[in-house]
Parts: sequence; structure tokens; C-alpha cells
Amino acid sequence: MRIFVGDITTLNCDAIVNAANSSLLGGGGVDGAIHRVAGPKLVEECITIHGCETGDAKITLGYNLPAKHVIHTVGPIYSGDNSDPIKLASCYKRSLDVARENGLHSIAFSAISTGVYGYPLKAATEIAVNAVRKWLNENPDYDMDITFCCFSQRVADAYAEVLNM
Ligand code: ADP
Repeated sequence: MRIFVGDITTLNCDAIVNAANSSLLGGGGVDGAIHRVAGPKLVEECITIHGCETGDAKITLGYNLPAKHVIHTVGPIYSGDNSDPIKLASCYKRSLDVARENGLHSIAFSAISTGVYGYPLKAATEIAVNAVRKWLNENPDYDMDITFCCFSQRVADAYAEVLNM
């Protein structure tokens, strides 16, 4: 597991993980950035998928992105409810499951739900790292390279603390 500080749309890996909304038809934040760089074919493919539930993940091609695929996951809008951490952990697990089902071996995550969706950064980071660790432990036979893409130094510091780096 590694930390990258910068824009996820520059990463050349098998899949980048988009913090999408349930329509999958584009939005602001990282979603807007991914659609801008991928080009209009991405939304055309997304239209054929008919949305995604919170905690689930769906895959498309990456089009003009350096990444081959985009895995779109929908994080919870932070509410303080007990279901928030369960749904957020599910985003990481389902994204990794979808990556494996498609034979992918490198994946970069955005910090799902920590922007407009308002999840407190420290809690979200702990959930992200624990969910990825759990998946790696449950899939010891599979080679998966994991990057946590942090758009700001503040986010990177939170990951570094949780990863003990
Ligand atoms: P959400 O609605 O799930 O909160 P946001 O896109 O608002 O999604 O924010 C999720 C995280 O993505 C935030 O930490 C934000 O700083 C980060 N982010 C925004 N743009 C980019 C980008 N181009 N590359 C990587 N991360 C980004």
C-alpha cells in the first residue's frame, strides 16, 4: 500500500476508483475531474449501467485517461449513522472484488466520501486502510498493487499516520 499525492487522473494503473454519485452520470470533485479527462465516451458507457447503489462498485473503460479502467463506487453521504462505516468499507471491498473479477492488478483509490459527502477524514482513512488490509488478507493468492491517491497534503498526512509511514 502506497500514498500518492496529486491528481488521480494522471495515474497510469489498471484502474482508478471514482467517488461517484448513485446516478453515475457525473458530478463535481474527483468525479468531474475523471469525466473531463476521460472524455464524453465515459458518460456514454455510464448511461448503459443504470446507476450504482451506495457501497457498490461498477467498472467502465478509462477512455482518454492513462488508467485502463475506472471503477465507480458510491460512498455514503456522512450522516453519523451506524451504517456509514459499513457502507464506506463496502466501497473498498467491492471495488477490489470488481478489480479482481476483471483480472486487474493495480488500483488507485480516491479518498471516497471525504469531500462533498462530508465523511470526517481520520475516520474515513481508518476505514479505507482497514478494509483494504482485510481484503488483501482474504486474497493472499492474488497480486494487487494498491495506491491511496491523496489530492492534498492534509489527506496524505492522514493516510501516513494510519499506515504508520
Ligand atoms: P465525495 O462526494 O465522495 O465526498 P469528492 O470528489 O467531493 O467525493 O471528494 C473525495 C475526495 O477526492 C476528496 O478528498 C477530494 O479532495 C478528492 N479529490 C478531488 N479531486 C481529485 C482529483 N482530481 N484526484 C484525486 N482526488 C481528488
